[in-house]
Amino acid sequence: MSETLAPVRPGKLIINGEAVDAASGRTFETRNPATEERITTIAEAGAEDVDRAVRAARAAFDDGPWGRMRPAERARLLHKLGDLVLANADELARLETMDNGKPIFESRQIDVGMVAGCFHYFSGWASKLSGDTTSVNPSFFTYTLREPLGVVGAIIPWNFPMIMVGWKAAPALAAGNTVVLKPAAETPLTAIRLGELALEAGIPPGVLNIVPGRGTVAGEALVRHPKVDKISFTGSTEVGQHIMRTAADTVKKVTLELGGKSPNIVFADADLDAALRGATTGIFYGKGEVCAAGSRLLVERSVYDEFVGKLAERAKKTAPGDPMDPKTRLGALVNEKQMGVVLGWIETGVKEGAKLVAGGQRQPVNGKGTFVQATVLADVQNSMRVAQEEIFGPVLAVIPFEGVDDAVAKANDVFFGLASGVWTRDVKKAHVVSRRLRAGTVWVNMYNYYDPGMPFGGYKGSGFGRDLGADCLHEYTQIKSVWLNLE
Ligand code: NAD
Repeated sequence: MSETLAPVRPGKLIINGEAVDAASGRTFETRNPATEERITTIAEAGAEDVDRAVRAARAAFDDGPWGRMRPAERARLLHKLGDLVLANADELARLETMDNGKPIFESRQIDVGMVAGCFHYFSGWASKLSGDTTSVNPSFFTYTLREPLGVVGAIIPWNFPMIMVGWKAAPALAAGNTVVLKPAAETPLTAIRLGELALEAGIPPGVLNIVPGRGTVAGEALVRHPKVDKISFTGSTEVGQHIMRTAADTVKKVTLELGGKSPNIVFADADLDAALRGATTGIFYGKGEVCAAGSRLLVERSVYDEFVGKLAERAKKTAPGDPMDPKTRLGALVNEKQMGVVLGWIETGVKEGAKLVAGGQRQPVNGKGTFVQATVLADVQNSMRVAQEEIFGPVLAVIPFEGVDDAVAKANDVFFGLASGVWTRDVKKAHVVSRRLRAGTVWVNMYNYYDPGMPFGGYKGSGFGRDLGADCLHEYTQIKSVWLNLE
């Protein structure tokens, strides 16, 4: 049974603790990709609004309560925000599914829990960040202070609109920074709602500002703003490269979480039923619009034909459905443009010589929506474009290999290095291959697991810096050395 949808209020910018219209009065529409209907209108931030938000964040950091607050009090407020996320789980999950098209099952069971988990986990760190005393010279007292950076600009994509707020804002705020966050124009609803909940939790005005708008306008203004100390970006490689270049003008710190083309390697000695489940959820979870999707499946030659046959069967059973139906496991792609891109890639794969063994078509649900079938391209060669470039949709490229060296060589022969999977019953092989893979995450006999306590980020073209885990706190703090002369 589908959920009944309550009407969604028009979205505003959240600047300095208030829900406001854009200075220009401009708005944009956000649409439900499953029904093709307009959901509501959203205030569209321009450069002037971004400037106001940055000034509010600056004041809250430099003069205001956040910079001066006791870490234990910051921790209490962030923990409360985590509680409020759980208390509003149903509403947040519905907004996410309407805006993005992902199944309500995922929004409820995964996304909401991850966001709450981030605020809970990082609230614990607020009171545990410390420097060191060092022994440089008996005549001096020398120590280090671990300090926040100041104002963090967070720019996030449309595939995990709510989770990304948790990934970026929770550690940045826990470390004592203030934040201006720009959600993707395609999916602004949950970020705005989380901004409201932050105020309800008692997080002071100006500490977390939300400025939905276009990347080339609001995003660009945030990156160029001289009073922003750091940009934490998750999104496409091209935009990440542009941000890195632009941020050089103001010598901003940058972390980039970019795309992926992650190898999921199935050895013949694996539990093949488990590997089959991991291969399918590895690509079809989140409609394949997942940076870490296991989009290149490497299968050992001796089990290749049998495995591909079962994979095709399983993919054919993973039919797109109404995202609001709790039983649905494959939702709608985020918009028509993305659907066109994905269908174009399937065509490219077939032209390149890949064999289409499942899916390949648009499949509307109730006559509407940007749904694409779970698609498997077999007999792919690693040099093909469908094996090298990110598709960002439910399309799996399957490549045969012979033995460990060939698997590792093919796995690493790609621009990206975000994630990877290894399926084997051989413990030694699991560890050896994990070490040889050039990727920020290796999952062994599992795929697509995340936790606020485990760092996540890229090697190679997938970017640098880490979200999540204790390591990511280094991305939001800097070290000051203090020397005191005792003579
Ligand atoms: P995108 O790069 O088009 O947009 C990401 C964000 O950047 C959006 O908020 C957008 O408005 C903004 N932006 C666009 N142009 C900008 C500019 N000139 N200046 C400043 N900001 C600008 O990416 P997308 O299409 O929204 O998301 C999909 C991409 O994100 C995929 O490549 C995916 O792999 C990547 N991604 C990576 C991770 C990760 O953790 N590595 C996670 C999720 C998504």
